[in-house]
Amino acid sequence: MAVERTFSMIKPDATRRNLTGAITKILEEGGLRVVASKRVWMSQRQAEGFYAVHKERPFFGELVESMSAGPTIVQVLEGENAIARNRELMGATNPKDAAEGTIRKAHALSIGENSVHGSDAAETAKEEIAYWFSQTEIVG
Ligand code: UDP
Repeated sequence: MAVERTFSMIKPDATRRNLTGAITKILEEGGLRVVASKRVWMSQRQAEGFYAVHKERPFFGELVESMSAGPTIVQVLEGENAIARNRELMGATNPKDAAEGTIRKAHALSIGENSVHGSDAAETAKEEIAYWFSQTEIVG
């Protein structure tokens, strides 16, 4: 297994409920290391840019609205198989379908306000990390 980096966000629904530590603990105990982290309040424009791949989807407006409604913690996570491992720890997009022990099962409010984001592939991880971080902000 290769050591990889992935991009993660603790979304505004979770920062609002003071769950930054609880969620980071699940990621760390799950074998991932936080090698970059910062708190940002994204603009609607930044949210639209980040989620551009979803711009034709019916939930796009709501997604942009909720992502710019409060602070987000953006992180780079490192570990063996980090992309797949993070997706496993997050659980299914809809918390109703999320497995026991996952972040979304424990903390998500709904399919829209589902507490975390994680890159789904190597190429998107690279792009998403570069969207929020410069190389010097990532300390492995
Ligand atoms: N989303 C939504 N309604 C849907 C599907 C997705 O509001 O029917 C939101 C949700 O916040 C999700 C994000 O859009 O996390 C991105 O969707 P994706 O299918 O990429 O899910 P993820 O990779 O976050 O599990």
